[in-house]
Amino acid sequence: MSKDLLDYHDALNTLLQTHQPMVRSETLPLAQLHGRILAEDLPVRLDVPNFDNSAMDGYAICGADHSSWQVVQRIAAGDSAQGPALQPGQAARIFTGAPIPAGAQAVLMQEHVTHDASQGAIALAPGQAIRPGQHIRRRAEELQAGATLLSHGARLNPATIGLLAIQGYAQAPVLAPLRVTVFSSGNELVQPGQPLQPGQIYDSNRVMLLSWLQALGFAAIDGGALPDALAATREALQRAAQRSDAILCSGGVSVGEEDHLKRALEQVGTLVQWRLFIKPGKPFTWGHIARSAQGGMDEDAPPCRVFMLPGNPVSSLVTFQQLALPALRRLSGLDAQRARPLQWQARANFNRSKPEARREFVRVRLEPGPQGWQATPLAQQGSNMLSGAAFANALAETAPGAQIAHGDALTVYPLFDTLFDIL
Ligand code: AMP
Ligand code: MG
Repeated sequence: MSKDLLDYHDALNTLLQTHQPMVRSETLPLAQLHGRILAEDLPVRLDVPNFDNSAMDGYAICGADHSSWQVVQRIAAGDSAQGPALQPGQAARIFTGAPIPAGAQAVLMQEHVTHDASQGAIALAPGQAIRPGQHIRRRAEELQAGATLLSHGARLNPATIGLLAIQGYAQAPVLAPLRVTVFSSGNELVQPGQPLQPGQIYDSNRVMLLSWLQALGFAAIDGGALPDALAATREALQRAAQRSDAILCSGGVSVGEEDHLKRALEQVGTLVQWRLFIKPGKPFTWGHIARSAQGGMDEDAPPCRVFMLPGNPVSSLVTFQQLALPALRRLSGLDAQRARPLQWQARANFNRSKPEARREFVRVRLEPGPQGWQATPLAQQGSNMLSGAAFANALAETAPGAQIAHGDALTVYPLFDTLFDIL
């Protein structure tokens, strides 16, 4: 292990420990809550069900030892059960969701009775028995008022949103999305749609990161492309820090004299870590820039967090998913465990006899095999070759200096796993 380069796992653990949730919250109507994280515990306001009611279309009866009953009431869903209490031998015609009348001991399914319209009476059909309390949904059998309905930190999904509606909540307090400004950098970059001049390339990192952040629910802000110039970079970082919770930039963070981002961060903020012992992604950098609150300095305003990704597109992608994103998820309010990249085990479907000194994230296709998942590397493994990541569905981690034999167990990280987050 190199002395001054940090290992991936140390970097991830440090990022998760040093990035605490930023707790700005906002209150949103139910229809806008999907995917958001609850900012407070919410109590059960109403017993569920809120009144004893029928689970079936049928008859509520009094006198389970009778074999026929006089139908004296009719109660539909939405009616209140204000009528006189049923007496032994009496029944109420009742429908699913309708309140159970006083005196009723059970509900008979309409399929289990015979109905004599001329007498206004029902009788139990042959072979049917009565269990006291049958087909009655009891008040509070599901949820009791005063208990905790949903806890702070819960990610809201369609069912939890429905549950809030059941409780009469019209809105809920949720964590505000983190504002993340994304920059690309480099004089060679041209935006897709514009003509290319000799020596130029299209900017792919910015749209990749912006669309990824947007899909994850962050408030992604397009900061544009920075020129390879120190003063302009410094000013752009400082301006963005005032209106963002985090800055994500790519390129310009390596060792060449046209790499200005790292130097700009040192001048306007604090560089915490530069360079990791990983492949790809060695120049990955993080730090922060102090923020002044509106109307003057506010010592409590948390600093804007800065993540500098290497320019090569695969290096950007790998360091975003494996390092910057876990830190952003932690800042967004997820606990440290849930902020980590999803991982599982697979078997190597390849051999590697020449070891790689750094910890490597190999772009692989994961496919089910006879012994579980197997990982096959893509041919395009260059850190500049985005096609290798585009045709892959996971990153396979290999330890520094490891030789890999066919069938060896590997840790794999599915790509874009957080787009399918189940929290
Ligand atoms: P740098 O870290 O700035 O030296 O960039 C390393 C490599 O990544 C160079 O080949 C750059 O042209 C390329 N690169 C940097 N930024 C981008 C970007 N936004 N989109 C595509 N390639 C980029
Ligand atoms: Mg550059």
